[in-house]
Amino acid sequence: MLYWDQKKECMPREQLEELQLKRLKETVSRVYSFVPAYKAKMDENGVNPKDIKSLADLKFLPFLTKQDFRDNYPFGLLAVPMRDIVRIQSSSGTTGKPTVTGYTRNDIENWAELMARGLTNAGATSDSVIQIAWGYGLFTGGLGGHYGAEKVGAAVLPASGGNTKRQVMLMHDYGVTMLGCTPSYALVLHEEFLRMGLERSDLRFKSGLFGAEPWSENMRKEIENKWEIDAYDVYGMTELVGPGVATECGCKNGLHIAEDHFIAEIIDPDTGEVLPEGSFGELVITSLTKEALPILRYRTRDLTTINREICSCGRTHARIRKILGRSDDMLIIRGVNVFPSMVESILLQIPGIEPQYQLIVERKNNLDRLEVQVEVSEKIFSDEVKKLEELENTISRELNSGLGIAVKVRLVEPQSITRSEGKAKRIIDKRTI
Ligand code: ADP
Ligand code: ZN
Repeated sequence: MLYWDQKKECMPREQLEELQLKRLKETVSRVYSFVPAYKAKMDENGVNPKDIKSLADLKFLPFLTKQDFRDNYPFGLLAVPMRDIVRIQSSSGTTGKPTVTGYTRNDIENWAELMARGLTNAGATSDSVIQIAWGYGLFTGGLGGHYGAEKVGAAVLPASGGNTKRQVMLMHDYGVTMLGCTPSYALVLHEEFLRMGLERSDLRFKSGLFGAEPWSENMRKEIENKWEIDAYDVYGMTELVGPGVATECGCKNGLHIAEDHFIAEIIDPDTGEVLPEGSFGELVITSLTKEALPILRYRTRDLTTINREICSCGRTHARIRKILGRSDDMLIIRGVNVFPSMVESILLQIPGIEPQYQLIVERKNNLDRLEVQVEVSEKIFSDEVKKLEELENTISRELNSGLGIAVKVRLVEPQSITRSEGKAKRIIDKRTI
């Protein structure tokens, strides 16, 4: 079992919590002194940096939300002057103004460290050739992966997203051993690989670190079987630093949160109440080492559970279960909560369909209706209509029993669902509210 930094990743729990408390106190003081918007929130809640005496006191601090980023756009949440900032990144901003974050030199160093851990967990060494096919630019994926891979000492191919044919050519010609991209793009690359008629035995490809979007356990199997590799999950977000906040180890049984840099809590998204260990709810993250933009109790809107048992890999850092989805992506269909990842998980157990699907949501008479469009394989598609109908019925039955509601299923032609070079778009929302 390889570690990037065994001492830090396997630190005894007691020692780790001591370190967390020390860093938490420092962070809270700094934020209180240098971020007026957050100070105002603390004052409003009647909480002072001195009130943080133990890790349990974290719950007295107010939450930070996406709205705070919007209200303080672009640089209002920075805790250092611009002269100390060496990098600015931002989210795509599809739902309004982009979320902006800044980094000091130390922040960049720590971020690279987090990604170096993740890549090492996924098998990277200085002998690796790592292709980074997350987008480079303001999006955190590309540069996050890049700095981590360089830190490991691997040979980095800064391919960025897109130009799929060239990506496959690079994988083939340059002996790429590891890939970093979104899980959906890993499948797009595989389709291209088949189209190009290359031989798997000519590749040195062994493992991949995939993230930036939800993907089910069955999607992992799909990627692993198709590519014949080990696929690992990496989680993060712009507000927190970028990818690397949590990464999977060889056990593939939850993502280790880098607890020397972050504290994780699970709350009830409706009441904000902290839930006991093992409960399912919204992930809330506090940063412990970030200088430029320290984060206190950020509501990620991502839904998961936390497990603090020591992992069989020896790491003591808590694990989050694979993210089910973002609360914003939750659909309520006739009173039942549905996430795209749940649909994905069910679909991928059914033979004959491709791992390409979309959820079309419409609202009629104030009720949300869901249609699931699924691509079928070339072979099935050319079969008789009767076979297609049978498949459609099977899918309907499985979704019905798995989700607890009946949804409309539509089989669509191979290659008809738009492929994404970054995050896949799983929901087409036709609701006019
Ligand atoms: P944007 O808000 O533009 O999508 P980010 O690129 O910062 O900006 O996206 C972060 C979000 O992506 C996370 O909050 C989460 O919803 C999703 N995400 C990132 N990594 C994963 C992962 N491994 N599994 C599930 N979701 C993920
Ligand atoms: Zn582990």
